[in-house]
Amino acid sequence: MPLSLERTEPRGRSRTLFTLAFALVLPLSFIACPGSNNAGGQQPVQNTQTNTNTSQQATPSTATAFDAERAFEHVRKQVDFGPRPAGSAELAKTRDYILGELKSYGLKITQDEFNATTPVGQRKMVNVVAELPGESSDVIIISSHYDTKLFKQFRFVGANDAGSSTGTLLELARVMAASNRKPRFTYWFTFFDGEEAFCDEWEQCHNPDPSNPSRPLPDNTYGSRHMVDQLRSRNELKRVRAMILLDMMGYKQLQLGRDDISTRWLVDIVWQTAKELGHGAQFVERPEGVGGDDHEAFVRAEIPSLDIIQLSTYQYWHTPDDTLDKISPQSLKIVGDTLLASLPRIEERLAASH
Ligand SMILES: [Zn+2]
Repeated sequence: MPLSLERTEPRGRSRTLFTLAFALVLPLSFIACPGSNNAGGQQPVQNTQTNTNTSQQATPSTATAFDAERAFEHVRKQVDFGPRPAGSAELAKTRDYILGELKSYGLKITQDEFNATTPVGQRKMVNVVAELPGESSDVIIISSHYDTKLFKQFRFVGANDAGSSTGTLLELARVMAASNRKPRFTYWFTFFDGEEAFCDEWEQCHNPDPSNPSRPLPDNTYGSRHMVDQLRSRNELKRVRAMILLDMMGYKQLQLGRDDISTRWLVDIVWQTAKELGHGAQFVERPEGVGGDDHEAFVRAEIPSLDIIQLSTYQYWHTPDDTLDKISPQSLKIVGDTLLASLPRIEERLAASH
């Protein structure tokens, strides 16, 4: 894990090369790992030594209340607002829309406003967290960024990046808030501001760190790094038991690989559950080298984290063509349903490990 985090290659071409290099090596390790390609197996359960009877209760159901059209409508609304870079009036409108939805689900909402130093000056950013209380005050975060990347050369509306994940997160929040079952853990539906770099490339620019001038700060993931800092300063990091990130998971030709800095057991549970639901063609057995995203600060804080993302096979990434016609309501539902079916297994695993 630390080795992966040491990597500094930018998102983009060199990351794709990294992915290709791994694609040549990793299939061998999958083959060598019994159960990892076994659609009928119970790999997540095998990893949970203290629990032996999960297999009876854990058969996932395809019937969930996740409404594909509602989720898609959220994506359409965001695209209609136009480009939504951090600090823009369009992002403020998007945030008002998100807040209105979350309030209508009856969730307790926190807005955390902060000033970020960026290569283009100070920017006001706002993380939004909606809380669904559980039996335990320990927290599982489900998250997405809601800003879009700033492009001056063209109009970038970010239907997949990050309209699709924001829409899916809203629908997940609605479904879970409406459920009769009080969840075992408390959930924080978290909408991060400022994930995107202001400079063209992910690691092209850096920002000064007044507290440690010798180590400049990244020009990306402003909201998630701020949240981890806040949790640390309030001594609340240990409450967060797992972090799940959605990012670019709405493409019509959905194909999600295993992110290489995500926590292995979380990936295993979600990918296995997807297979059992019949979504093995969308949650595929290949590595996805992401090279940094909003889960990275949580990984560094040693919180089990998972990024569900389609990067290397989404050819419209950061182009003017990342538009609504690339998004399928069914893709949003496949990810939403898979996550809803995975959460009890993740809760079980976390409960057993404390
Ligand atoms: Zn992006």
